[in-house]
Amino acid sequence: TATTQEFDVLILGGGSGGYAAALRAVQLGLTVGLIEKAKVGGTCLHTGCIPTKAYLHSAELADHAREGAKYGINTSLESIDLAKVREYKDGIIAGKFKGLSGLLKMKKVTVIEGYGRLVGQDTIDVDGTQYKGKNIILASGSTSKTMGIEIGGRIMTSTEALNMDSLPESAIVLGGGVIGVEFASVWKSFGVDVTIVEGLPNLVPNEDPAIIKNLERSFKKRGIKFNTGTFFEKVEQNDDAAKVTLADGKTFEADVVLVAVGRGPVTEGLGYEDQGIPMDRGFVLANERLHTGVGNIYAIGDIVPGVQLAHRGFQQGIFVAEEIAGLNPVVVEDINIPKVTYCEPEIMSVGYSEPKAAEKFGADNIETQEYNLAGNGKSSILGTGGIIKLVRQKDGPIVGVHGIGGRIGEQIGESQLIVNWEAYPEDLAPLLHAHPTQNEALGEAALALAGKPLHG
Ligand code: FAD
Repeated sequence: TATTQEFDVLILGGGSGGYAAALRAVQLGLTVGLIEKAKVGGTCLHTGCIPTKAYLHSAELADHAREGAKYGINTSLESIDLAKVREYKDGIIAGKFKGLSGLLKMKKVTVIEGYGRLVGQDTIDVDGTQYKGKNIILASGSTSKTMGIEIGGRIMTSTEALNMDSLPESAIVLGGGVIGVEFASVWKSFGVDVTIVEGLPNLVPNEDPAIIKNLERSFKKRGIKFNTGTFFEKVEQNDDAAKVTLADGKTFEADVVLVAVGRGPVTEGLGYEDQGIPMDRGFVLANERLHTGVGNIYAIGDIVPGVQLAHRGFQQGIFVAEEIAGLNPVVVEDINIPKVTYCEPEIMSVGYSEPKAAEKFGADNIETQEYNLAGNGKSSILGTGGIIKLVRQKDGPIVGVHGIGGRIGEQIGESQLIVNWEAYPEDLAPLLHAHPTQNEALGEAALALAGKPLHG
């Protein structure tokens, strides 16, 4: 083995976390090597955020075609051309990939193609060549958990589900979390008969109970079936169908099963433990400044326990680059990370849900306010219902904003400012919210929480 190059910052993994760290580090005058075994852009660009949202856009158009007549536009849905949907999705990915690769090159990030393994506190081996970094950032990301289920044929993870040759007539979605409900939503819009199987008592169990209730009602209305509260025991397939058996003996059969039971870290066999890096069930235990406690080794993104979202990894990448450059950046709390689930209806949330706020501040020390989008002009025009819910500390700042409804994800911008800047409802009351927008609902909810509802 030969050592070829030494960098100020050597990064293992070119996903959202890794490439953001690379770009920020070169901007700060540091030399950067970015090791990637597949394609820069990682899960988010190639098999995650971007392709799923392309599918969701096609799904939304399918719904529009079905519902056009309701708005005086006489359309109908003739068919779904899945090959064309894929082509559109692949075109978006290819364009973004080209843009990102070009940007990294232009900014003089050295992209090292190959399979990396940490072999020393400052050394990564890439297919037999050793690279050194004064600082190392681990950003190897995550992959679908399968819980022992064999993937292949009719049984797939989100990655295979994004590249099917034809649409199934029926599908079972194992797992009612973010990825599960997004696929269920798309497939339903494409005319697939969908059943979600979730072991916990509810879909999207991490959301506020008011949001959960609204989503379950909306899904029922859309004809998306779900069975909650019992875990699966067995997943099988034969030539004709795939079958899921639950712990209580109940069975479900469909053309395909999507296994969407969460994402696990990609760390096995990468030499992290050998260097003494603290780990828990495959995750890397970095401290709040994302340092592993070993040498100058940091960890970011989905390998660090917490919410697995692209913009978290991205921000952590920027954070660590600034930390290495000595800029002493501000730590981002996991609880304040904005989240959007892009099913129909959409969900957005930031900060504490009501139960989490009650646990943190005491049930008597919080106040909540729900605002029904039925009272919001723009929502009526769009034909969407839903709610916005605010959670505040009694006589204190708003600590949680939650919403559900068509296109409500767009409201995450102001919502996250409210929570991250610890705004009081009284601070929001004098702010103007353009009319008619769904954004007005945030203002109305804040007015109500400040004790002066205008329409209430
Ligand atoms: P990754 O993006 O997984 O990148 C890790 C990179 O490291 C990969 O490119 C991998 O090839 C490389 N790598 C791993 N091991 C090695 C090695 N040994 N040598 C060299 N390279 C290696 N998040 C959102 O914010 N919004 C969404 O809408 C959203 N939708 C999603 C939908 C789906 C279906 C999925 C699966 C995920 C979605 N996510 C979404 C989550 C998001 O994709 C991840 O949180 C994000 O990609 C994590 O970034 P990361 O850099 O930690 O890891």
